[in-house]
Amino acid sequence: MSTVALTELEIHGLARSCLLVNGCDEANAAAAARTISSAERSGAISHGLFRLPGYVASLRSGKVNGHAVPREEQLTSAAIRLDGDRGFAPLAIEYGTPLIVDAARDSGVAVLLIRNSFHFAALWPEVEALAAHDLVGLACTVHTPMVAPFGAKKAFFSTNPIAFAYPRPGRDPYVFDMATAAKAAGDIGIAARDDHELPTGTGLTADGNPTTDAKEVLDGGVILPFGGYKGSAIATMIELLAAGLVGDYFSYEAVKADNRDGGPAIGGEFILAMSPEVLSGPGWAEHSDAFLAELENMPGVRLPGQRRFAARLSDEPIHVNAELVDTLQSMLI
Ligand code: NDP
Repeated sequence: MSTVALTELEIHGLARSCLLVNGCDEANAAAAARTISSAERSGAISHGLFRLPGYVASLRSGKVNGHAVPREEQLTSAAIRLDGDRGFAPLAIEYGTPLIVDAARDSGVAVLLIRNSFHFAALWPEVEALAAHDLVGLACTVHTPMVAPFGAKKAFFSTNPIAFAYPRPGRDPYVFDMATAAKAAGDIGIAARDDHELPTGTGLTADGNPTTDAKEVLDGGVILPFGGYKGSAIATMIELLAAGLVGDYFSYEAVKADNRDGGPAIGGEFILAMSPEVLSGPGWAEHSDAFLAELENMPGVRLPGQRRFAARLSDEPIHVNAELVDTLQSMLI
């Protein structure tokens, strides 16, 4: 694969320019570009520039509002509803983060319910932003059906990601961020492209038979939830939090509202913040850190998030697929 070496700043500039030229204002373009460039810097390439053609397609089709202005509604002292104004989620998240931080510090617990926005990114930025304020964060969202519930052969859930961060003052937080599907959709696409076999239990063919062939999964088949019925239950919880509780589309509803332009689907995001200082009290950091130190010192264990944190320490240029860079440059006109 031929690649082009770009700095994080150049990636941000490319993403921002593409979004500006295709219909975003400065605030919306810069927020989405920050999400994209930080994903590239963190080695999360499936949520970096790779997603930009989808963002652009949604602007060009008129599905997404590039001039979105998020608006908040304070439901209670600990519950904030945020209308994303049909924009990309990064601006709504950046707008809502200080609001949920203040509410969680005051009340110990707070929720941010984002409606009416288009999420196409990893979820660690939102939970890491909370951990940076010494808050515990949990976030989840849905998009369109790709995953069959345990026992079924038809897609009903999306790959329903969930992320959790626990602060460790003076250190990187404990963070996991994962799809609740046996494999994320992007990984199945890459396996199909590169002719890699999928692990057993990843998907079913269009006829409902188990397959390890990624092309069969993509050709009318379905992905399975991770962990059988347990993953299916967690995926259900995510639908209920991000759609039922937030008051936005479930995956099976979002697909009907979508114009299939290749970009993100409209939907909601559920974000929960908790203050260990308020809830646990002084000494919480040392107590939790001792537990995490025991865990990470066990032979064979590595904490989730460490791969991304290590990638961020590099100041080397980032090698981006050259064909993708050409495609993006053609979108600047
Ligand atoms: P992975 O399976 O790659 O990783 C899931 C989590 O497990 C990460 O926190 C990762 O940490 C950790 N991990 C991986 N390997 C190990 C290991 N050996 N030991 C300990 N921890 C490990 O992620 P997914 O493919 O499930 O998801 C990828 C991304 O896709 C997520 O960021 C998710 O938010 C996003 N996504 C977004 C969607 C959307 O609609 N917006 C839909 C679906 C997914 P580390 O990063 O350090 O490797």
